[in-house]
Amino acid sequence: MRKFSFVIGSILALAAPASAQRAKSFSDPVKAFVVADQPLILVSHARLWDGTGAPATDGVDMLVRDGRIVAIGRGLAAPDGVKIIDASGRTLMPGLVMMHEHLYRKSPSDRPAYYSDPYIPQIMLAYGTTTARTAGGFDMAGDLRSKAKTAAGKLAGPDLDISIYVDGPKPVLNMLPAIANAADARREVDYWHERGATSVKLWFDTTPEIARAATEEGHRLGMSVAAHVCATFAATAAEAGIDTLEHSLLAAYDIVPGAAEGSCPAIERQTAMIQRMASLDPAGPEVGKMLALLLKHGVAIDPTLAARDEHLCAPEETPPARELALLAKFDPGTGAFCFQGLTNDLDLKSAAFQAATAVRYHRMGGMLVMGTDQGVVPGAMGPRELELMVAAGLSPGDALIAATRNGAIKLGRGKDIGTLEVGKRADFLLVDGKPDNTISDIRRLTHVARDGVVYDPGKLYDDAKGKLH
Ligand SMILES: [Zn+2]
Repeated sequence: MRKFSFVIGSILALAAPASAQRAKSFSDPVKAFVVADQPLILVSHARLWDGTGAPATDGVDMLVRDGRIVAIGRGLAAPDGVKIIDASGRTLMPGLVMMHEHLYRKSPSDRPAYYSDPYIPQIMLAYGTTTARTAGGFDMAGDLRSKAKTAAGKLAGPDLDISIYVDGPKPVLNMLPAIANAADARREVDYWHERGATSVKLWFDTTPEIARAATEEGHRLGMSVAAHVCATFAATAAEAGIDTLEHSLLAAYDIVPGAAEGSCPAIERQTAMIQRMASLDPAGPEVGKMLALLLKHGVAIDPTLAARDEHLCAPEETPPARELALLAKFDPGTGAFCFQGLTNDLDLKSAAFQAATAVRYHRMGGMLVMGTDQGVVPGAMGPRELELMVAAGLSPGDALIAATRNGAIKLGRGKDIGTLEVGKRADFLLVDGKPDNTISDIRRLTHVARDGVVYDPGKLYDDAKGKLH
């Protein structure tokens, strides 16, 4: 028996993943962004904020071997051949795990461009996102190709977790397939899972029957399930077992007086419903009842506050110039959604409602995750999302935990990513500042590592400048 276990042990050791990325197989443009990819990397003298909830500690070293963290401590010995990154005066923290991203940009002019853009993953990495769940795409082949290319180092970007949209019998947008019933929903989930999708996004017209079937099938296949529902009530989706509710309670029509489950109202009536919802008291009993139900079912809320910028018809607050410079073209004063009857007034009011209900959920003990839902510059809004959540009342540390550890947990990958601990993947950031004290310091990134390959965020940014359409 001893011999047998020894053999098994050896096989496991041999099979232990050499999965870490190595830049020598990367494309030349991606190689140009890499500052370190040695099999052994020692990050030395860092101020470590590990994402576990422990306070930051000074003077810590972290040793990475083949893309995995193998030791964390003070005064670690530097093995032969190690690449040392001196992190004195900087904070070492986990890479961001963003949960509601898209690989397309909605163009504010003429027809929306929904194709998967190759610069968005690169911008995500430049802004510190090392894992991104998309929350649906219209160019699934493009999204899946971007996932494969970033995994192979042919495109710079985070680890992409690609979601499919599951809508209903009458999809809100023409590009989506009609899903008539539970059997259709299962087939759709199976089809895209086989092709590499790893998450499901329940959308507006998903009926309760479809929501239950798609959630069950997704979970059977190990996929995470996000919901921005309308024809299905949030309570029904929570009971069906969804992992995250998107846009805070803006996806909970249940709380709107007079709402009926079964079909999603036309866009004008939705605007009217948002109006009624945003008039509810975030501290009131309707909201409290819904949050308690979500808490009971272990649903995480993804507030997506940065999305507000893109909805504004006449942006009073536009993103900083550094982000706008990434765009090939920007038409100020033309919000993508103005045609739907939204107004700045209503949109700011509903964004405040989203923020306040999310903070209330956090205070009740509910889990928050973070996603940007694109904003005006997809991929670049992670820091802004964090700043908006802190402005809404979350502490910088809690906002960062939502954007790292909690996202990993909700992707079912909490053992692999989300915190900096021995055995986990070397997805980390070096920050010239203390983002756990001052959230906007997250903008001062000096290094971004995915899978033990360390990139220069400035180079990633410079190369993408002016190229996002
Ligand atoms: Zn979205």
